[in-house]
Amino acid sequence: MVVTSSLHANWKEVTKSNPCPLCQKPDWCYRSENEEAVVCGRTNPGEEPGGWKYLKDASDGRPIFAVEQEREYLFPIRPIKQKQQSKLPKAIPLPSENLELAHLPKPPTDQPKPKANQVPPWLLEKGIPAHATETRYYYSQSQWVSRFDWKDPNHPKGHNKTIRQCHRKPNGKVKWSKGDIEWLPYRIDEAIASYRQALTIKPDLVSAHKGLGDAFQKKGWYHDAVGCYQKANELKPDDASMNRALGDVMLRQGREPEALDYYRQALA
Ligand SMILES: [Zn+2]
Repeated sequence: MVVTSSLHANWKEVTKSNPCPLCQKPDWCYRSENEEAVVCGRTNPGEEPGGWKYLKDASDGRPIFAVEQEREYLFPIRPIKQKQQSKLPKAIPLPSENLELAHLPKPPTDQPKPKANQVPPWLLEKGIPAHATETRYYYSQSQWVSRFDWKDPNHPKGHNKTIRQCHRKPNGKVKWSKGDIEWLPYRIDEAIASYRQALTIKPDLVSAHKGLGDAFQKKGWYHDAVGCYQKANELKPDDASMNRALGDVMLRQGREPEALDYYRQALA
């Protein structure tokens, strides 16, 4: 599908000046860089405003919506073709210097699983049925997103869901809201571990240095982020996006002259 592949583009959290086009809130939702897709945990599939279409769920269970385009673009209807004797394509040896691949030993096995009988009373009052299942996506030990799913014969899709943010307060009490602590990207520590593992297998993997730098930056570990970006810069000099990333992280550290240098290089 055309759209899903382009969804791997960069996502940016919405801001006050550029709020979520679906729920109008200034945080927690994400827009794709081309502005054609949005992750919005406050909008249920089927309840999106006109011009938007539910596409699929993101890795944290929240729905992804895309700008409604011509139907063929979002949901290509393939013409029924006559069955043909399929020919296997001929293998072409890849030049080894172009390969950027590192196998990780095992895929994650701890995907969140739905659990029954966990609907809190306040959601029951809002009409969420008691038989709904809850799937928890932990962002940290004290922050998670709960997704409640249930069968709904009145809904066009036959099922319905709602997604709620939750956190545990320092006193141990559960509060169904975002809380004051910043939310880091979903499973960012695992992303860091995976990038590190990839680099033990292939130490000059530019994309892993860049990804690790991005992850460190999200964690606020700017010094480590600089190290990663500089390493990536050494391996692949004159990359404008890397110079820009270095400029951004320098700026965050208050190192303005260095930031300017990197921005100039990015523009050169
Ligand atoms: Zn939103």
